[in-house]
Amino acid sequence: MAKISSEELLALYSYFGEPLNEATEILEKCKITQYSTGDFCRQIFDISISEEQYAIFENINFCHCKFFEDKVLGEKTCITCKHVLAVYLAKATGELKKETLDHDVFQQYLNAQLGAYSNINM
Ligand SMILES: [Zn+2]
Repeated sequence: MAKISSEELLALYSYFGEPLNEATEILEKCKITQYSTGDFCRQIFDISISEEQYAIFENINFCHCKFFEDKVLGEKTCITCKHVLAVYLAKATGELKKETLDHDVFQQYLNAQLGAYSNINM
């Protein structure tokens, strides 16, 4: 986190609250992988924390975690969750593992994500 000063972190904390602290912990503990197609038309960010896996879409404030459902969508007491914030911090600091995927493989990855949402009625 060398590229973000403590003043900047404090300012961010006043805005995002506790999820910001948790996001910095994610950055310390695990790697965030940025999957892109070769032409960079499609990008997705993958966070794997032990058994849990979260896919964060480029420039979309959404996560399928419980916190996001309860605090962001439900109570509306937070702007976003630690996973989305961790991706933004990783992008800002360059602490991302970058992988390029073929369109076919990228599509398979997206389909696998849809499987995770299949219990949500849309
Ligand atoms: Zn989340």
